Formats: sequence, structure tokens, C-alpha cells
Amino acid sequence: MRRLSLFGATGSVGQSTLDLVRRDGEAWRVSVLTANSDVGELVRLALEFRPELVVIADEARYGELKEALAGTNIGVAAGAEALIAAAKHPTDLVMAAIVGTAGLAPTMAALEAGVDVALANKEALVSSGELMTAAARKSGATILPVDSEHNAIFQCLAGGRIDQVRRIMLTASGGPFRTMSAADMAHVTPAQAVAHPNWSMGAKISVDSATMMNKGLELIEAHHLFPVGLDRIEILVHPQSVIHSLVEYVDCSTLAQLGSPDMRIPISSALAWPQRMATPCAPLDLASIARLDFEAPDETRFPATALCRAAISEGGARPAQLNAANEVAVAAFLAGRISFPAIVDTVRRVIDAAAPAVPASLQDIFSVDAASRAAAQHFVDQLEHV
Ligand code: NAD
Ligand code: MG
Repeated sequence: MRRLSLFGATGSVGQSTLDLVRRDGEAWRVSVLTANSDVGELVRLALEFRPELVVIADEARYGELKEALAGTNIGVAAGAEALIAAAKHPTDLVMAAIVGTAGLAPTMAALEAGVDVALANKEALVSSGELMTAAARKSGATILPVDSEHNAIFQCLAGGRIDQVRRIMLTASGGPFRTMSAADMAHVTPAQAVAHPNWSMGAKISVDSATMMNKGLELIEAHHLFPVGLDRIEILVHPQSVIHSLVEYVDCSTLAQLGSPDMRIPISSALAWPQRMATPCAPLDLASIARLDFEAPDETRFPATALCRAAISEGGARPAQLNAANEVAVAAFLAGRISFPAIVDTVRRVIDAAAPAVPASLQDIFSVDAASRAAAQHFVDQLEHV
């Protein structure tokens, strides 16, 4: 039996993880479950999986949680510090599935403690990739990527050596506006932007997919996870989302990982690694898919990926600035405050206005994050008042 600590148990990745654990109950013991504020769901999961510890991030909900689990032997804690302590609770694998900056500190604590981390939280690598990967190298912890593209690359790298990789091809669906003109994109609504053609995901990541910022953030993630050099990581638009990424070796052999667009496949890969586990996912039916299409990304209509490439080659605080500005801009777009093209424009303005810096700790990252959010808010307010 392997012990699993699940951070962000009530979210989309969290629920998919528990769906797999539930089907393979003999193999797993859940040690820790956490959520932000949904006490009802956390209690339901706690009573089903019987972890040793549950943590609610929102301290105001502590009393409610404590009362609901009174009489059980499940430990209860609340707050940001409790999340960090929970990451050091004895376990075999941490699933880091909290969304946003709140996921950074517990992920770092697990890596520093030498615990293997199945990493879904994108922000950890995007804003503090250098610090996270350095902590993992130091402690010997393995980062098992859960993001589908990075999980695909991780699987393809099992077929060769990283120093013999010629090129990594990170695939992108192109999002719902792949074939739309720039002029038409100026008028798209939040409802149109969140309607992803292949994947069912939260609003923020769906908008990132529509701007291609998601692929840019994934380029940053890939750069930290797979150190082959930024110029060896390319983006390839593949509208069907069947091939989740490819790795080309020096001999011109190219390995690809394919699968239905179901997050339970990469999640299962990270959970079971270096083994594999059965999933209830739909097997690929290539004969009925019949064709796979590919095209080069159009960075004129979708400037986000070039912005991310520039941010990572400059390094330091740039990716953290970009990530924070993007979160604010996406929220403003979803609230109907700014136009779709203004998302990436806002990110660019924040980066252009911010001084370069080299964060040496998560605390430095949090300062950069706060300053970039404030700057983005300022530009959003300006846009709204013209
Ligand atoms: P989600 O919004 O569905 O769930 C987020 C989880 O984090 C919830 O359990 C929530 O309670 C918890 N949480 C939110 N704010 C918190 C806070 N301040 N403190 C503590 N906990 C908090 O998100 P998701 O779709 O499951 O995504 C999780 C992460 O995985 C994100 O970083 C996302 O980018 C990444 N990811 C998701 C997918 C996907 O298909 N859903 C794919 C690739 C990567
Ligand atoms: Mg992805």
C-alpha cells in the first residue's frame, strides 16, 4: 500500500485523482486531504477515505470542520501554515493540485522534505521553477508532471536519454479561436473563450488556452522540467489533442504519447510511476478519429507564446511577473472589464514596466507576485476608463 497526500482534493484534478484511488483502493492509503473553503465536500471525502489529517485553508471554516469530524480519529487543521505542515506529514507521494500561488509553499515543503510530488499546480514551475527544481535536486525528490503535455514528454523520455534529445514538440490544440481573424478576436465574449473544443477545464485555464497563454506557461514548465535548452522546445498546433507531445532524438526517431483527452490518464501515470495502473478512460479509437492535423503556431494572432519565451530566456522574476499579470488580466476579461486582446497586452505592459529581479526565495516570489498583480490591476483600471 502506498500513502498519498492530496492537496486540492475538491478541485478538478483532486476529484479525478480520488476517482482513480477509489477504483484501486487496495493500492492506496490516503494520508492527507486539503481544500480551500468547501467544508461540506472535504468532510464527505474525509469520511470516505479516512485520512490521518485534513486541512482547510480558510481558517474561518475550522470550527465547522472540527465539529463535523468530531468523534473520528481524523486530525483537523486550518490555515496556510497548516498546509505547509501537512506537506511534511509522512507519505509516499504528494499530489499538488491546488490552483494558483497558494500551491507554492506546500509544494516546496514537500520537495524540501524529499517527498516525490505529482505536480499539477502550474504556478509552482512557472513562477518559481528554478527554486522548485533546485529543492528537488537537493533532497532527491522526483517531480512527476501531471499536466498532460509534460506527462507525455516525461513518458517519451523513458525511451531515451535527455542528452540525446534533439527537440521536444509541445502540442497545443490552438483553442476555440484557432482559425479566427485578429479583428474578430477583439469582440469575443468570456462564454466563447471558455468553450474549449477538447478538454473540460476551469474558466481560467480555458481562457489561457484561448489566448495560447496556457501553451506559453507550459513552455516555461517544460523548460524547468526538461533541461534540453529553450531553443529545443517547439510548439506544434494539433487541433485534435490526441498526441499530447513528442520527443525527437538525435537519430531522428520521434516518440509520441497519445491518449483520449482525459486528465485521469496523465494523473494515473504520475500516481503509478514507474508502474502503470488500469484506468476507466476511453481507449483511443484511431480508425474513427481517422486523421490528425498539425500546423505551426501563428504568433502574430497569438502573441502570448512569444512573450513567454522571452520571459523565460530573460529568467529571474520575469515568468512570475508574467504569471501574476495574466491571472489579473484573465479575471478582468471574465468579469467583462477588458477585451480578449487586452489580456496579453496587459501582461506585456506589466513586464515592460517592471524592473528585472532575481528571486532567491519563495518570499521574494510572493513580493514579485503582489507587485505584478497591483501593476496589472492599474493597467486594467486604465483600460476600463478610456
Ligand atoms: P480547481 O480550481 O478545480 O481546484 C483547485 C483546488 O485548489 C481545490 O481543491 C481548491 O479547494 C484548492 N484551492 C484553491 N484556492 C486555494 C487556496 N487559496 N488555498 C488552498 N487551497 C486552495 O483547479 P484544477 O483544475 O483542479 O487545477 C489544479 C492545478 O492543476 C492548477 O494549477 C491547474 O493549472 C493545473 N492543471 C489542471 C488541469 C485540468 O485539466 N484541470 C490540467 C493541467 C494542469
Ligand atoms: Mg496542459
